[in-house]
Amino acid sequence: VKEEVKMKGSDIQAKQKKYSLQSWSAQKNTAPIPVEKAEGMYFWDFEGNRYSDMSSQLVNLNIGFGNKAVNQAIKDQVDQYCFLSPAYAAESRANLAEKVISVMPDNISKVFFTNGGSDANENAVKIARMFSGKFKVFSRYRSYHGSSFGAGNLTGEPRRYALEPGAPGFIKFFDPYIYREAIEFTSEADATAYYLTKLKEQIIYEGANNVAAIVLETITGSNGVIIPPAGYLPGVRAICDEFGILMICDEVMTGWGRTGKIFGFENFDVKPDIITFAKGVTCGYVPIGGVAVSKEIADYFDDNYLSCGLTYSGHPLACAAGLATINFYQEAKILDNVNAVGKVLAETLEKLKEKHACVGDVRYIGLFSAIELVKSKESKEALVPYGKDPEGVMPKILGMLKAKKFMTYFHENMLIVAPPLIITAAQLTEEME
Ligand code: PLP
Repeated sequence: VKEEVKMKGSDIQAKQKKYSLQSWSAQKNTAPIPVEKAEGMYFWDFEGNRYSDMSSQLVNLNIGFGNKAVNQAIKDQVDQYCFLSPAYAAESRANLAEKVISVMPDNISKVFFTNGGSDANENAVKIARMFSGKFKVFSRYRSYHGSSFGAGNLTGEPRRYALEPGAPGFIKFFDPYIYREAIEFTSEADATAYYLTKLKEQIIYEGANNVAAIVLETITGSNGVIIPPAGYLPGVRAICDEFGILMICDEVMTGWGRTGKIFGFENFDVKPDIITFAKGVTCGYVPIGGVAVSKEIADYFDDNYLSCGLTYSGHPLACAAGLATINFYQEAKILDNVNAVGKVLAETLEKLKEKHACVGDVRYIGLFSAIELVKSKESKEALVPYGKDPEGVMPKILGMLKAKKFMTYFHENMLIVAPPLIITAAQLTEEME
């Protein structure tokens, strides 16, 4: 019998660094933590240190590590068959599609599966263009919609720069980022009116008849959990209706319970025409994404050619994982937990803001939150300037949190706190102390 030899954590780290390119980094600065085992909201390195996953990895691991039902569903699917091309009918694919539609708003009738969030957004744009016969697509400056070419063109923040000059027809507008707006608003309604007026004006200048879709992260996620003011999303919906523009909500980060509702837009009482999702639908146990479309759009493709296709569209393993994940959410009444623990998170964040001079703003909904760091509360000057951090201030802060085994990530001057949706109030309180 061969004795299993454990490769030391440092060897694994060195090997990964030697042979892999690490996302979004200057390679010499990377130090990926080698993980030996993981369970629930925790993982352990090879020295036995326990870390708390306070960002649900990349805001996707909502159910935590080691969910037995999801693991079993994957194993069962492997035993039946691992793969069937999208040209064949696969039971797990059919079942996941039915399940996804069952939790969508009543105007949504079909789904096209993708491999993740970026290609979900790219295919959403293709579908909107084919359906409408129009070309231009609006999205916002602070939004992240993915890193591949099409999704990268939708993305407004600095991660789009490597794609420039980019593809034609992608128009950017400003997010309702009230904390950093040059104008002081007297009320939320005032802010909403301002942003909607500007958006409408921009659409008119671009030629309303040329605009296929407006794509929005329902709540701008990785760029600081920017929650739209009351009336904003219904106002965008009304503008879309007025000009015959499709409303596409990117629910890749906000979907599947993160905000206390199944989808983020449910907090604002709107129904999009197209909904993209990924991350929490399988929590990464096997990757998958999707584009869910209204009945009107679905019906259009009954007679018109759908020019979309991916070898792994609706991969049976991912679909089996997705079905088990959604069943788990429902059986565990995950939304109740998000709303209850979300209240504790809100209180903790407000206290943090009161206590620390460097916390300019805290924004939260459900178990989705950002802490905006500033040089001073009065000036609101960001702790690091937009798009650059030459002295590595934010990585240093992350290092301090890591020393406390509190694992999360940052963007610009914002720390994201988005723990797994299974976290208890006691666990949350312990982490935030
Ligand atoms: N859209 C949003 C809102 C996201 O947060 C992300 C990823 O973080 C994406 C799209 C891209 O998804 P993926 O990384 O699965 O391609």
